[in-house]
Amino acid sequence: MKDTQKKFILPENEIPTAWYNIVADMPTKPLPMINPKTHEPLTVEDMSTLFSREASRQELNTTDRYIPIPDAVRELYKSYRSTPLVRAYGLEKALGTTAHIYFKNESVSPIGSHKLNSALPQAYYCKEEGVTNITTETGAGQWGAALSYAARAFGLELAVYMVKISYEQKPYRRSIMQTFGAQVIASPSMSTRAGKDILTVNPNYQGSLGTAISEAVELAMQTPNCKYVLGSVLNHVSLHQTIIGLEAEKQMAMAGEYPDVVIGCFGGGSNFSGISFPFMRHVISGEKKTRFIAAEPTSCPKLTRGVFQYDYGDEAGYTPMMPMFTLGHNFSPANIHAGGLRYHGAGTIVSQLLKDGYMEGEDIPQLESFAAGRLFAQAEGIIPAPESCHAIASAIRRVKEATEAGREDVILFCLSGHGLIDMASYDQYLAGNLVNYELSEEEIKKTTDSLEKIIK
Ligand SMILES: *Cc1c(COP(=O)(O)O)cnc(C)c1O
Repeated sequence: MKDTQKKFILPENEIPTAWYNIVADMPTKPLPMINPKTHEPLTVEDMSTLFSREASRQELNTTDRYIPIPDAVRELYKSYRSTPLVRAYGLEKALGTTAHIYFKNESVSPIGSHKLNSALPQAYYCKEEGVTNITTETGAGQWGAALSYAARAFGLELAVYMVKISYEQKPYRRSIMQTFGAQVIASPSMSTRAGKDILTVNPNYQGSLGTAISEAVELAMQTPNCKYVLGSVLNHVSLHQTIIGLEAEKQMAMAGEYPDVVIGCFGGGSNFSGISFPFMRHVISGEKKTRFIAAEPTSCPKLTRGVFQYDYGDEAGYTPMMPMFTLGHNFSPANIHAGGLRYHGAGTIVSQLLKDGYMEGEDIPQLESFAAGRLFAQAEGIIPAPESCHAIASAIRRVKEATEAGREDVILFCLSGHGLIDMASYDQYLAGNLVNYELSEEEIKKTTDSLEKIIK
């Protein structure tokens, strides 16, 4: 057997010192976020009533290509970055392919996913600006776990609204947050008006990310010295995640290769953006022809079947309106086991890039995604998060295409997290209790037809 290198790691002094802001390079800029009442574009002033001022500035920054990573954040990044770029020889062998498969392993972060990449800077900016308390929501619990550690690292008090079904199905994520010192509240709760309104109409409501966002936003607005932080969807979150792709670009060069296709699973878009945008800048500039694929669940298909329209980020309509591919803010996904992919809409940057043909969406049925994850686990020894399984399934589809065409494609995907705290979902899969779920046209129309037609 020839001597082949399995993984590529950057020395600390090669860890990127700035994030990449793709908006500065986009030929068509995303439409602005707007105030739902006046339809006026949001200003930094407006945004920073809810978010930290620096996050608000980054959110609306359309001119600076690179934004420096604060030293205090870089220091904390060093405890787990660079994350390894790994050649998936085991998976290649299992699939019997001549394609080259690489994955960027974000599961090695202390909390097990890419989410910490944005939790750290967001907590840091709040601290710098004199904020003492922060609130957020979490679906499956990864974001809450990441932010709990980040809040602790910078001495902030954190309250997390956790979607009720996950609170019950994923008790260990709750324990992780509590171990770091966060307060965790099952959502919908009686502690906010948004929660009360929903519970009085439907006492058995299992919760959704949209409702949990409404509750966290309400608490932040009513508590002095308290800001709200969000773990996906927004531009500044995608910005922070570009550390993934910036590292991967250097690591692919160490491997002496360049990807033909880059893949990420897709919830609100942050890990997909993170792995893709640094490579996409060479497509925008005309130097490269790379394919970018965002893999979403068939049961929450905002990219492949949603509408492009202004919509709210939350169920109660407290947030500004964003131009996005959306299933409607009242969309409530079926009980799927990739909690992190249940959000109703896509971030504004990704939505514009999809509209302009720079990337593709692909929907993956639940059973195909778990089968891919299991194959990957057996071949590479890492149990992937149910979310990440979608990226693996999409990569396997690309491998099959390449093998059939006799091509040696280079395929890169983001392993956004490990699944060691998601074994209940694997149990369900192994027991044969999971089914595929495809939405009917009527179901999609129900929540998209009622959207105000701001984009004609
Ligand atoms: C949250 C999460 C996702 C989905 O969120 P994005 O913002 O789309 O990246 C995917 N994978 C894992 C492991 C997650 O925790």
